[in-house]
Amino acid sequence: MTKEFGWNFDNSYARLPEIFFSSVDPSPVSSPKLVVLNESLADSLGLKVLASEKERKETAAVFAGNQLPEGSAPLAQAYAGHQFGHFTKLGDGRAILLGEQMTQAGERLDIQLKGAGRTPFSRGGDGRAALGPMLREFIISEAMHALGIPTTRSLAVVTTGDPVYRETVLPGAILTRVAASHIRVGSFQYAAKWGNMEELRSFADYTISRHFPDIDANENRYLSLLKEVIKRQAALIAKWQLVGFIHGVMNTDNMTISGETIDYGPCAFMDTYDPATVFSSIDMQGRYAYGNQPYIGGWNLARFAETLLPLLHVDEEQALQLAQDAIAEYSVLFRQNWLTGMRSKLGIFNEEPQDEALIDELLEIMQKHRADFTNTFRSLALDKLEDLVFFETPVFAKWYQQWQDRLGRQAEPKDSVQQLMQKNNPGVIPRNHRVEEALAAAVEQGDYSVMERLLVVLSQPFVYSPEQDAYCTLPEPSNAPFRTYCGT
Ligand code: AMP
Ligand code: MG
Repeated sequence: MTKEFGWNFDNSYARLPEIFFSSVDPSPVSSPKLVVLNESLADSLGLKVLASEKERKETAAVFAGNQLPEGSAPLAQAYAGHQFGHFTKLGDGRAILLGEQMTQAGERLDIQLKGAGRTPFSRGGDGRAALGPMLREFIISEAMHALGIPTTRSLAVVTTGDPVYRETVLPGAILTRVAASHIRVGSFQYAAKWGNMEELRSFADYTISRHFPDIDANENRYLSLLKEVIKRQAALIAKWQLVGFIHGVMNTDNMTISGETIDYGPCAFMDTYDPATVFSSIDMQGRYAYGNQPYIGGWNLARFAETLLPLLHVDEEQALQLAQDAIAEYSVLFRQNWLTGMRSKLGIFNEEPQDEALIDELLEIMQKHRADFTNTFRSLALDKLEDLVFFETPVFAKWYQQWQDRLGRQAEPKDSVQQLMQKNNPGVIPRNHRVEEALAAAVEQGDYSVMERLLVVLSQPFVYSPEQDAYCTLPEPSNAPFRTYCGT
């Protein structure tokens, strides 16, 4: 596919020292077929949306890795990571970076094929991906974007025509992922462990120029890098908490430096509010449970800080002190972001010291009554109190009065309060049973219409339209808890 389709690649990652990547081409597949294309994202990347059959075929060939777009320089990134607390050498085992699309708006965005074949980092894996999980990543990452949460995006899914062998035989697929970059905490862990001082410094400099160009050259720029990453992650994880998103596998290789959510393997949105909620089939200890995510964020950032120690100060003790002071800020920043977000969810414009207690009391009531997280706030935002499962309880009546008194102590009128609430409480989230239903239709029957309708509804989570109602219903009670799988 040539420039006429709008590809405009640069390959700055390929100009980094050799230890940071391996040049490798995608492995061709049998019969690529484009099944999902994100037209608005394609448009914003400057890629032509495809009308003719011939163009669709050519596009499918590119998104399958069978044909390289002009200007691409395919590579697999090296990284390492703490996976469930254990340090391992990793790397993109099944993801190949084609290059960086330079957009008209002046952005530099990674275009990466996930499931494009084996790379030197594949270890025992086949380098491939199954259709269901790739469609799942498409749906959830696009839902996150619509929710206003920084995330990698999904441009396209192609089926390969080749089977992949997991517990059963599944149809193979490739997802095209778009990201501000794929630089992870794990990339720095790799640089610190296997790079020399010069390589580590050049990697940090590259990251600064790509993501934090405003960092002043005259200050301690590596300390500023650390602080900026802490700031972005504190904001990101607070946003997850505010919509009930559970990442499921917050390993250090799944935490970006850009502050975008990455890796939609075992993630899911929580229905019933319970901080102990875990969906991932492999997270036996609840390390990545909903309520633990803010803490794990801090743990991962401490690992990031460690990699920067030699750059922070020539004196080891002073470097450690600088890192510790920066890390200590994380929980403060997280709390601030979370509190601000929670106030907005409850229609509160200004600050009072008792707000935190008011919020905590509501969460306690929700937990005790096993209330649905999203629908509780939705009912409050719609002023449909009778829909709340704890509507008739005295404890709620008391809380409600306190809340109304609190709203009465600010200047904003009732309709502004409701507007603020509806802007901050999604009317829909990608509920697991709805996502599964869309995936089943697509994977088992080749029917993508269920997924397409779901994507439309998820693309406007804050509109509070009647179309949302059907997507707010809870799953039928089932004995088997919902489980997600990673590395699928
Ligand atoms: P993930 O669970 O997707 O974060 O993957 C963890 C590590 O395993 C990453 O380094 C992946 O690149 C690699 N990996 C996951 N699945 C495969 C696969 N099917 N083939 C090769 N490598 C894989
Ligand atoms: Mg990963």
